[in-house]
Amino acid sequence: MARVLVVGAGLAGLSAAIDASANGHHVVVLERTKTVGGKGTSQNKEGFSLTYGPHLLDKKGPLWQLCRRLSKRKPASSSIRLDKIEILGHGIIRPRGNISKVIENRRALKSKDTAYHVVRGASFLSSWDSNNTSRIDALSKSKLLVSNEGWIGLVGRIAAALDEIGVLIECGVKVESLHDYGVKLKNGKRIEADVVILACGLNGARKLLTDAYPIRTTETLANPSRTTASIIEVGLDSKPLRDRQAIIDTENSTAVIDYVGIQSILSTNGSHLSAITVGGLTGDVGETRFSSSEERLQFLENFLDSQAGGWREHIVTDLRQEKIAIHEYCDNEIDGFAFCDVGIILAGAWVKSDYILADAAVHSGRTAGKNIGKAQH
Ligand SMILES: Cc1cc2nc3c(=O)[nH]c(=O)nc-3n(C[C@H](O)[C@H](O)[C@H](O)COP(=O)(O)OP(=O)(O)OC[C@H]3O[C@@H](n4cnc5c(N)ncnc54)[C@H](O)[C@@H]3O)c2cc1C
Repeated sequence: MARVLVVGAGLAGLSAAIDASANGHHVVVLERTKTVGGKGTSQNKEGFSLTYGPHLLDKKGPLWQLCRRLSKRKPASSSIRLDKIEILGHGIIRPRGNISKVIENRRALKSKDTAYHVVRGASFLSSWDSNNTSRIDALSKSKLLVSNEGWIGLVGRIAAALDEIGVLIECGVKVESLHDYGVKLKNGKRIEADVVILACGLNGARKLLTDAYPIRTTETLANPSRTTASIIEVGLDSKPLRDRQAIIDTENSTAVIDYVGIQSILSTNGSHLSAITVGGLTGDVGETRFSSSEERLQFLENFLDSQAGGWREHIVTDLRQEKIAIHEYCDNEIDGFAFCDVGIILAGAWVKSDYILADAAVHSGRTAGKNIGKAQH
């Protein structure tokens, strides 16, 4: 049995803790903020569960599968429907009563060829500009879901399972540095561990590793870069999207979804809009379109003005974020076990995986937790 310390209680850290504990190790999770879930956190305000931007799940992906396996009661979900998604300049993906367009779009989606407008739209909505073919398939087969209990409901299921098996999650504890077989906290306290799993985001992991192993880190985690997004989450007492569940502007990597439209059990006469615009700032991968994150958020507000007319007059509650990292990369693919000879395993959406986004975070976390022996001396 190894003493395992997990740094970060996002999806990667929580998933790592589940598997490490299931394999008989003694696990403690340290989280710098007051809540678990990382970017998967949501907050309940005025009856709306506000998240950091729209979050869609692949029914076949590791996150959904883990939540199903951990819960006696299957998590409730609803799938986003092609006949209710509009791509600006193209129309509804599966328009009712227009058989030739339905067939044309179905063929295009099957080809995954991004020369087709409809494929670019589906790709953006399902993976936020990652162009992931399995997520396009999930959307095409009505297996791209929203969680009816909010993203935090899924995180809560993982956290509850950890609580049941006695894994301690300490929130409000920031890891400041690594030392031989353990970590040092902000308050100066040292904690010993046989294996440390760094599940604290690419930047967080890179900072801790650079202090301890500067040359090796520069070589292994070379040229980190990221794509950021601006988001607006807003609970309304009106339904400005009418019967559409999502509207996508592919040219500007922007979209809005209505959670209530997708899962009508939430409320009958309001909407929960979640809008996002991805990239376009200096430092983001791709072309620069905005001079600042304020300007990008303003662009998103204008997009809502044009597509969800009157939304500003019907706000019940809202949450805005000018800049949040949505994709993190390095020049090279990062092997989660690149530092295992010094007792460290890496986990997160940025670690090499067959999956993307939250699924990559869960998959890399579970892989770390299952393979503690590789880093144990
Ligand atoms: C706007 C937006 C939309 C998204 N949409 C989707 C989607 O539709 N579908 C999907 O699958 N995924 C989506 N994602 C991606 C998904 O949310 C993330 O990939 C996933 O939550 C990342 O999990 P993680 O555990 O790797 O990292 P994080 O969630 O970043 O967790 C890292 C944790 O480590 C903690 N930490 C950092 N440093 C320290 C330290 N020194 N000491 C202690 N703790 C520390 C942080 O506080 C944080 O809680 C989206 C992300 C964003 C931002």
